Amino acid sequence: MKYFFRLFCAAALAVLSVPAQYLNPPRGLNKVTERVYAATGYALGNVIYVLTDKSIVVVDTTESPAAAQATFDEMRKISSLPVSYVVYTHFHGDHINGATVFKGEGTKIIAQRQHTEELAKYVMLSGYNTRLNAIQFGSALPAEKRGARLAMDPRQPGVRGYIRPDIFFDDEYRFEEGGVKFELYHTLGETFDHLMVWIPQERVLLPGDLFYESFPMLASPMKPDRPVLGWAASLDRMRKLHAAYLVPSHTRPQVGEAEIDNILVNYGRAIHWVHDETVKRVNQGMPLERIRDEVKLPADLAVLPYLQPGYGTVLWSVNGIYKEYTGWYDFNPADLNPGSKAALSRALMEASGGSAAILKRAGRETNSQLALELADVVLGAEPDNREAHAMRAAALEKLGEAAKNTVERNVYLVAAQEEKAKLTTVR
Ligand SMILES: [Zn+2]
Repeated sequence: MKYFFRLFCAAALAVLSVPAQYLNPPRGLNKVTERVYAATGYALGNVIYVLTDKSIVVVDTTESPAAAQATFDEMRKISSLPVSYVVYTHFHGDHINGATVFKGEGTKIIAQRQHTEELAKYVMLSGYNTRLNAIQFGSALPAEKRGARLAMDPRQPGVRGYIRPDIFFDDEYRFEEGGVKFELYHTLGETFDHLMVWIPQERVLLPGDLFYESFPMLASPMKPDRPVLGWAASLDRMRKLHAAYLVPSHTRPQVGEAEIDNILVNYGRAIHWVHDETVKRVNQGMPLERIRDEVKLPADLAVLPYLQPGYGTVLWSVNGIYKEYTGWYDFNPADLNPGSKAALSRALMEASGGSAAILKRAGRETNSQLALELADVVLGAEPDNREAHAMRAAALEKLGEAAKNTVERNVYLVAAQEEKAKLTTVR
């Protein structure tokens, strides 16, 4: 075991400077304790196996039955016991869509009560969600270009290995299986139906998505509001358990009571900080644009490897917290009932003597964001302007290549690819 930990630390140091690598940990079945194994790197989500004396308990199932099967094939080299329970830590696809692989005759599936309602909302928006997942996970990009990635293509109807749970609970659910006690607690975080699993005798805590090695996705650009303060409260609750092993459903397991406590304190502090600093400025009447500029993590938190913006970002969190508590109006009356962007673009072009002047200005712009915005002005008035499309594609490509965030990277690069495709049709 000691050798494993040392290896672990060496690997951690090697990738310190590249946050995205945390999100794609090495593929393998990691032995955490005599009873607990974590399959990482097979898919976006991990599968966690708990060996009891008479069965296997599975926590989370990845987004793909094929990936789940690959992890199970490895686990089968260690144990041939049946699967008694599958636990969904929350309703997101990367946790529930591999379940069929584990379902045997007596297998029971457990989720928090709100699972059904949350999933129903997701299904109601399935057209939207298919599109957002394809963008968020860069499905149309060549594999080597993708940032965050799935082990399946959300645009294909394909196989979904989801199975409806048999057991639901409200606040907590305890059971004993093969001499091992399991405690499940409803803990708000990425979703409203989120739960964590505590295995006291192993001192192993399975936090689902309450912790992963990135600044947390407190507000996803394309997804509904998340309970930010509830998430921070969940971290306080996790600390009280004094776990010796923290085995999340993304990224690698963490080991050592002191180190884990440190991580949980810092993760909670970071969430509280961004929340409180945003709320303070909302009350001061500050516009969102300025709040976004001002709210940064304190220096001691900003350097921590597990608070790098590989998945969530501080800026996106500020946007989300602002919107969650206020509304969509930014207190600029020009934005209350905005006119058409095309009309504004046409007026700007008229005033500047046509698209040529704006394109020339965009052409010497080194700030890719500004170049993108200038190209947008031209395209607002002249949707078929080839030069503007080419500039837009180039700016998006640069933004994507420079992005530290794996979702941001995909959003820009997918859009760049779409722009390039338009270039072949626009004359
Ligand atoms: Zn997840």
